[in-house]
Amino acid sequence: MILFLDFDGVLHLEGEGHLPNDGTDFCFLPSLEALLREFPHVRLVISSSWRERLAFEALIAPFAEDIRPRILGVTPPRGSGLSHSFAHREGEILAWLQAHAAAGEPWVALDDAEWQFDRHKDRLVVCGSFVGFDAEACAALRVHFESTRP
Ligand SMILES: [Mg+2]
Repeated sequence: MILFLDFDGVLHLEGEGHLPNDGTDFCFLPSLEALLREFPHVRLVISSSWRERLAFEALIAPFAEDIRPRILGVTPPRGSGLSHSFAHREGEILAWLQAHAAAGEPWVALDDAEWQFDRHKDRLVVCGSFVGFDAEACAALRVHFESTRP
């Protein structure tokens, strides 16, 4: 199972800053990492727009040492995939799956931008942009992870 992970509005509240070292604190990352430790079969791909501004090493630096090796990469640049759709993020995810011959792989997206998804809303766990990864989102993500536990 692959988790496509957004940062803003998920790992921290929307509007708190967008680059490391500007005071941005991924305050919800520890609870996401705690959940990920329960499900070692889950791998991560970063779908956040941060991927277009930071090198991969900087992007994964905030993650715990045991989680970092589980991060496979980042989705392709904005606009990849479904050019006819405004659901950019979903298109980028599908493009990543296709590029990695992983079209049959179960996946779930954790994101605060519901409008970025169209045909695969059933694979989306939505966070409130000004709520972040709370207990409700954690429970919803757990259901997805449980359903694919080997
Ligand atoms: Mg976001």
